[in-house]
Amino acid sequence: MHGIIENLISELTRLPGIGRKTAQRLAFFILSMPDAEALSIAKAIEKVKEKARFCSQCYNITENEICEICSDESRDRSRICVVEEPSNILVIERVKGLHCLYHVLLGALSPIDGITPEKLKIKELVQRVRRDGIQEIIMATNPNTKGEITAQYIRELLSPMAVKVTRIAYGLPMGSDIEFADEVTLGKALEGRREL
Ligand SMILES: [Zn+2]
Repeated sequence: MHGIIENLISELTRLPGIGRKTAQRLAFFILSMPDAEALSIAKAIEKVKEKARFCSQCYNITENEICEICSDESRDRSRICVVEEPSNILVIERVKGLHCLYHVLLGALSPIDGITPEKLKIKELVQRVRRDGIQEIIMATNPNTKGEITAQYIRELLSPMAVKVTRIAYGLPMGSDIEFADEVTLGKALEGRREL
């Protein structure tokens, strides 16, 4: 196969869930697209890599110093929902009702893989709780072993402080990932959260 097409196919296979066959299909589709459309995909990738950064407060993705959620004054600023990844925020935001702030840990504890508390944004969470008079921390880490260990660790860490720590309820299948929860299930899990 031609070098430049082959190159595009192999670049596309870097993406999660894109195998060789799908990459081939995408590559030929891109080839058939009008120039402007294909280039606008390339530009969007370029822009996101150039502009995207972490919010200095919650570690969500933003193009500003502080993200849209942190700057939204209409939110309940006494509650922080703790998630593993920025993409989890999008999922939880689809569920109406919480309208709180977030804190992204940028991972979950996994000592075996070298992911110790210092590697995550845990210290920064504790600082926010201390500084901003937070009343409730909602642990929405994934319902799997790493997510559980992380939730328990943070709960211990915050125990000397006057903050309620809750965990989203099950109904979410154990061993799963928040990303794959549907809105109704996730809504119930949030509503039925209980104190850790
Ligand atoms: Zn933020």
